[in-house]
Amino acid sequence: MARPFPTAVAEPAKITRADGVYLWDEAGRRYMDASGGAIAISLGHNDPEIRQALVDQQRAVAYANRTVFTSQSLEDYAAELGPILPMEDPYVFTVSGGSEGVETAFKMARAYHVARGEDSRHKILARGGEYHGATRGGLDATDRPAYDRIYRPWLGQTVKLPRYFEYRCQAPNHPDGCDDFHIAALEEAIAREGANTIAAFVFEPVTGATTGVTHATERYWRAAQEICRRHGILMIADEVMCGHGRTGRWFASDHWGLRPDLLVAGKAASSAYWPLGFTAVSGPVGQVIADSGIFVHGFTYSQNAVGAAVGLAVLRKMKRLDLVTASAVKGKFFADQLQAAMGDHPNVGDIRVKGLFGGVELVADRDTKAPFARSERTVERVQARALAHGLYSYTSVGLADGDNGDLLLLGPAYVSTEEELSQMAALLALAI
Ligand code: PMP
Repeated sequence: MARPFPTAVAEPAKITRADGVYLWDEAGRRYMDASGGAIAISLGHNDPEIRQALVDQQRAVAYANRTVFTSQSLEDYAAELGPILPMEDPYVFTVSGGSEGVETAFKMARAYHVARGEDSRHKILARGGEYHGATRGGLDATDRPAYDRIYRPWLGQTVKLPRYFEYRCQAPNHPDGCDDFHIAALEEAIAREGANTIAAFVFEPVTGATTGVTHATERYWRAAQEICRRHGILMIADEVMCGHGRTGRWFASDHWGLRPDLLVAGKAASSAYWPLGFTAVSGPVGQVIADSGIFVHGFTYSQNAVGAAVGLAVLRKMKRLDLVTASAVKGKFFADQLQAAMGDHPNVGDIRVKGLFGGVELVADRDTKAPFARSERTVERVQARALAHGLYSYTSVGLADGDNGDLLLLGPAYVSTEEELSQMAALLALAI
């Protein structure tokens, strides 16, 4: 008998209906969706406007191969993205999700250097404590010891930097603090590897799936940008989770005036109505790649008309309702609610919120920040309790110490009401 591959949960509820911030299973049980699936749903479930855009494009044309055709929705989508992307005259390459977007960015970075005769530049620099996808390139740039154990023979080409993690700064005793330690680490890695071997530096401006809503300071980002420019290293902002309004700005890079050469988005870009991601590349860099004629790349569903139509409808709705401001304003309210509901719980070590992006780190001991052992499966147990109370929350192992750690990742839809946000915080506190 053929079956769907098992989920992490032994007996998953079968979801049959969804609307706004709610999901219902076949038994009629209701769940609040505090995490928008995997931090993907920006507009809530069952939005009639987005559904209509999808159906309209399907009716007109579902697919025409991008290698020889274009579509109005793709042209309009790129034009609509232009003004909000933190780069000059960008080119947009749409794909089917974040991992494909990251691979596209890595390949573009490599092609750019080869096109300029710098064939020696092939390495990717990646910060620790980050997630960059499930495909082999993204996996190699990801920091998760549990993956290493299985896939190590395939990995090891990415140059890894230390984890930037304010709550667990790896340099608390460094004379210049966390920032300088990490700026120095970047310089040291480049000097050690040789700048002329490095193609790109990939980073999540606000981390997601591994360390949960941590970010460096403006001083770090300005220094990192200056270092990369000086050494001819391209900057790739992986904003698959933190981008597209999630942190209260269009892109998390905007918080620190970052101007990456490449930017990858996904998740909120389509609010999960279609498997969509995109890689944006600045005009000057993209032009070199396009003119070279050596960049042969694409997936069957790259640049497809339906994905672009959905992305366009999401983007237009977000602009019309000013949902980026809503994310910032509601995020402050959400942070206060979380703090009030669980801030003094002995096992809540840290609550980190930026816009409508939240991370709650669970610890065995608040004073020492000691994590629970992974074998206790604390975050999974909290998730199960939350489901029993009618709340769905995304989880992560958190990487507090080796493989140990427990992190709840929250990402309510930007259209959530204050009442819904405070109920999410209350239900989560109950589960904890
Ligand atoms: N990069 C980041 C920062 C992500 O959070 C994710 C997904 N969690 C990815 C890449 C990969 O995206 P996808 O799962 O859509 O392939």
